[in-house]
Amino acid sequence: MMDIDFLFQLLNESGVSGNEVSVLNLCREKVAGKCEISNDRIGNLYAKINSNESAIATRILIEAHIDEIGFQVTYIDNDGYVYIRPCGGIDGATLIGSFVEIQCRYGSLTGVVGRKPVHLMKGDEKNKLPDCDSVWIDTGLDANTIKKKVRIGDYVSFNPNAHLLGEMRVTSKAIDNRVGAFILTQIIDKLSTIYNKQITFAFTTQEELGCKGGAVVACGEPYDYVICIDAAFSSDVPDISPRVVGDIRLGEGAVVYRNGDVDRNFVEQILSVAQNHNLKIQLSANYAASGGTNTRNMQLTGTGNITATIGYPVRYMHTPVSMADLRDIDTIVNLIIRILEEL
Ligand SMILES: [Zn+2]
Repeated sequence: MMDIDFLFQLLNESGVSGNEVSVLNLCREKVAGKCEISNDRIGNLYAKINSNESAIATRILIEAHIDEIGFQVTYIDNDGYVYIRPCGGIDGATLIGSFVEIQCRYGSLTGVVGRKPVHLMKGDEKNKLPDCDSVWIDTGLDANTIKKKVRIGDYVSFNPNAHLLGEMRVTSKAIDNRVGAFILTQIIDKLSTIYNKQITFAFTTQEELGCKGGAVVACGEPYDYVICIDAAFSSDVPDISPRVVGDIRLGEGAVVYRNGDVDRNFVEQILSVAQNHNLKIQLSANYAASGGTNTRNMQLTGTGNITATIGYPVRYMHTPVSMADLRDIDTIVNLIIRILEEL
């Protein structure tokens, strides 16, 4: 059984790129006792199985970034309005009408994103996509109080909003890539004893700021195989052509990437594991021939790594209502367990 409560806990936690501590703590608590835990200086969390067998074992890395898109406070004016800049690729249109949480030293503070009413806009203003320069956060507090609580550089996330829609669809501001982190914890929970393999699960930071945490993992220990788990664009909505990302649908299984960042033979091996165990697969060449996930950096280390990217289909990527399907999550957990058994 999937631990839905923990999935929702992860999705509702605030972990904007550069400020992932509370999410890391949740993951650490979840896997403690089942793995050997360590950290590095950029905050990545490593959970290792069979840590003593490194000399003889096949070394496998399963990675997922744990950060989410959000904002950082740049300025507070004398009326107490808080100004922000994006951390990661925010869709400006999603700012308007949003509730946000400022993560302060002593807890979090709720505010709304405000902007000029449509009636008062002139000319082109009405047609322009909103961005951080045309909005502010209003917390309802006066300038003195807010300046005592909020500091420049504090992180801001969308309010916790995880929901189950229908029977299988989960939506939240942090789908990308808290679902990936959740998958790692589920694999650790379900994996039965494995010998002669050293498996490292890396929960990585700052992916949305240019794949930073993953780059540090790549510079660390060597691995024989690396699998990165991340959100994949689905094309089962109006206005996204399957010509761009492939025919990718929610509920139709794990997305296996075939582009320049992955090892051709390893991908073939993964496809045959899926076929042997009747696990649903969807192929994608991704939207770019290279990049967009941590896999690229994982490949570009030492004399080159054997890599693969496995995605779960996501609608409305990088908006507060990104959506994934529970069945795909389950498929990926099972697929990776089968791959680990076979390597
Ligand atoms: Zn991602």
